[in-house]
Amino acid sequence: MIDSMTHAMSGKHNQTLCVVGGGIVGLASALQASERGVFRKIIVLEKEAEVGRHQTGHNSGVLHCGLSYKPGSEKARLAVDGIKRMVAFCQKHDIPHEICGKVVVAVCEEDVARLKELEQRGRANGLEGLRWMSKEELAEREPHVVARAALLVPQEGIVDFAAVARKMRDLLTQAGHQVLTGVAFRKLHDAGNQLTVETSGDPMAVDFLLNCGGLHADRICQASGIRPSCRIIPFRGEYFRLNHEGGELVNHLVYPTPNPAFPFLGVHFTRMIHGGLEAGPNAVLAMKREGYAKTAFSLRDAFAAASWPGLWRFLAKYPLVTLREFENSLCRSAFLRNLQRLVPGVRNEHLLDDGFAGVRAQAMAADGNLLMDFLLLRAPRQLHVLNAPSPGATAALAIGEHILNQILDH
Ligand SMILES: Cc1cc2nc3c(=O)[nH]c(=O)nc-3n(C[C@H](O)[C@H](O)[C@H](O)COP(=O)(O)OP(=O)(O)OC[C@H]3O[C@@H](n4cnc5c(N)ncnc54)[C@H](O)[C@@H]3O)c2cc1C
Repeated sequence: MIDSMTHAMSGKHNQTLCVVGGGIVGLASALQASERGVFRKIIVLEKEAEVGRHQTGHNSGVLHCGLSYKPGSEKARLAVDGIKRMVAFCQKHDIPHEICGKVVVAVCEEDVARLKELEQRGRANGLEGLRWMSKEELAEREPHVVARAALLVPQEGIVDFAAVARKMRDLLTQAGHQVLTGVAFRKLHDAGNQLTVETSGDPMAVDFLLNCGGLHADRICQASGIRPSCRIIPFRGEYFRLNHEGGELVNHLVYPTPNPAFPFLGVHFTRMIHGGLEAGPNAVLAMKREGYAKTAFSLRDAFAAASWPGLWRFLAKYPLVTLREFENSLCRSAFLRNLQRLVPGVRNEHLLDDGFAGVRAQAMAADGNLLMDFLLLRAPRQLHVLNAPSPGATAALAIGEHILNQILDH
């Protein structure tokens, strides 16, 4: 294995890697390639004026440690490894972060059984310090939370992932590589022994293309001559920030017990690294891939979703969940009711509606199933990251290493 990797590395040593997407996954992958000296030249193309403008800069900012992922899955392995690497990266580069711990709350008997399963998963994934909280401990740590049972996950924390992305950009440019902002990938031409990337600027000759295009990853794959087997369906996640009084109600990250019948975690309370508390996100089927307002609409994106047979199968499978998420989006009191299941003392006037939202690049199969694990598609001199859901930001450095190993294995 080591021999074949060394051989592959020496083969790529004079080559150019083009990474599409200056989000945290693209930048972390480029950084891994840079640190291991695999490519002579690395060019990251980012269509926006700054890196980390989409999912990387529009998320909960939680450092997830791998509590709920199926033991043995790629997601569990990369999350457990990823949080350690991300925390070490933040320590090394002085990026503000805090390991504040998470409390997962069971509010009914069904939840208690599910939370026990979650605890087993966490233990199988090797989480440290995981433990049930006594009534007294919960009352002391989280006096406003009401629960039948509560699990403490002390390893989890918070960070500003956009700041991490900017640091990665700086490290790449300091190492002599290029991060070109304001330059969009358009199309890939394969002339046998070299690739030409058509961009919004000058075309460029490269040897390997890595697609980390997030909400546009399936389109970039298609424009590279490969038809992906899934489609990116955007799900908007909306948040409320809490006012000062509301912000005092919670001390850790406070999450509900996830219901495995539903594809997304319920709304939760998240402390933010620059201060304050936010609640959310919901998961609303969105009409625009990079649209953050409730009214955001793109004919192209809406058509892409509606013409995917998987979407209709998903809607048939989850009609109530889909409607409930629309209700959560349009009706503030429905959103509030969900929060009050965890913290009954939170009130309408605590919620500040400043419209912060993110959009998940959720890959959906043609059978309507949401792909829950990371998905990489390999082709000669190309690799496409078609699904990098949460905890993709936490795990970015581990994903970057995994991606690089896949490139070297080509
Ligand atoms: C609401 C929400 C909450 C989340 N919470 C968490 C959390 O708490 N913790 C966690 O670990 N993860 C979380 N995630 C997941 C995490 O944000 C993602 O897994 C991660 O950011 C994915 O990074 P990325 O680089 O793949 O995508 P992105 O950050 O979206 O980057 C893709 C980049 O590609 C660029 N691009 C697209 N098309 C082109 C083109 N043609 N040419 C050039 N550039 C292009 C885009 O402009 C963008 O900058 C959350 C996600 C959402 C949406």
